[in-house]
Amino acid sequence: MVDQSITQQTSKLGQPRPPLSLKTNRLVDDYIITEKVLGLGINGKVVECFSKKTRERYALKVLKDSPKSRREMELHWRASDCCHIVNIIAVYENVFSGQKCLLVVMECMEGGELFSRIQQRAEGAFTEREAAEIMKEICEAIMHLHRMNIAHRDLKPENLLYSSTDPNAVLKLTDFGFAKETTNINSLQTPCYTPYYVAPEVLGPEKYDKSCDMWSLGVIMYILLCGFPPFYSNHGLAISPGMKKRIRAGQYDFPNPEWKCVTQDAKDLIRGLLRTDPTERLTIEEVCRNKWIAVSGTCFMNFNLFKVKVLIRFVGNICRKCNNSITLDHRILFCFYFIGLQDEMTQALATMRVDYDAIHLKNLEKSNNKLLNKRKAHKK
Ligand code: ADP
Repeated sequence: MVDQSITQQTSKLGQPRPPLSLKTNRLVDDYIITEKVLGLGINGKVVECFSKKTRERYALKVLKDSPKSRREMELHWRASDCCHIVNIIAVYENVFSGQKCLLVVMECMEGGELFSRIQQRAEGAFTEREAAEIMKEICEAIMHLHRMNIAHRDLKPENLLYSSTDPNAVLKLTDFGFAKETTNINSLQTPCYTPYYVAPEVLGPEKYDKSCDMWSLGVIMYILLCGFPPFYSNHGLAISPGMKKRIRAGQYDFPNPEWKCVTQDAKDLIRGLLRTDPTERLTIEEVCRNKWIAVSGTCFMNFNLFKVKVLIRFVGNICRKCNNSITLDHRILFCFYFIGLQDEMTQALATMRVDYDAIHLKNLEKSNNKLLNKRKAHKK
């Protein structure tokens, strides 16, 4: 099978992809849909399908047709011109029992979610170098998006998929359900409002949206290095008021023994990514230049995940409440722990999007920025 990560890489000569054109013939004319479920998402199942022409395996996601899902497809299509973003092969517009649907055929990511790899690795050892390699791949995807002025806003380990089960598989980002274009191209492109001089309140929201992805990068890096998240709920709830408070106040630490052997560079990078003020958070360009990410071949220390300690930390409260000592099978406990971890990140991101969306973009007409007023007057 042809390696799509190579053939469908960044478009020839850096040209942007043509606009997405929806196919209107029946998907089943071109593909055979199987019963195999590749994954579950908020919009339903992602299932396996095969091209009738080439017999190649693909993944199929079904969305109800709506302006929101068309937006998701459009942004994903535009962005998937990068080897670290799951490639869209075709999108069909078909009707099922009177309901218009968008059927998205994507390259099949046979290696599953980064999340599962973290889970598997939790049983063994992880090195800082491996974590840095993973981070590098995610950073490439984010760099590509941010350069196109797209913020993903739902960056989490379930949305990062491996191309195969091979140890050298490529990691790719998917699910553009919360992605957002970060510039109002029309208003910024007029000669009067070039991006160099535009008011901070106009550029502000763009920074906020992108900074959501940077915060996620910080959380993912933290989890990769120790196996538990920086912010967590003490009460077994997915997100508690206390956890929200800690996220907003940036209250987290690097507890021993898990963080004892982790380098200062790694911790500094996490601090830069988890800054509470989104305008102070590192940008993707800064992260890509960061020595911990950029330098390969540095002698990183081996790092062990402390499975039992992690368990005690997260399920200890529940068990203590039930007057139980930790005698349950570790695998079952791990299951609970990782389900909780997924919920926590999902909900924390939702809170952050709501917070940042509340920072409204000021209408240029209504803006009372001195420089803008001058330029408006000058233009007349
Ligand atoms: P939703 O938008 O409904 O949350 P996602 O796009 O996140 O759906 O997909 C849900 C899950 O399906 C993913 O977490 C992953 O496990 C699986 N999945 C998604 N896309 C693919 C793909 N291209 N290849 C293989 N599995 C996939």
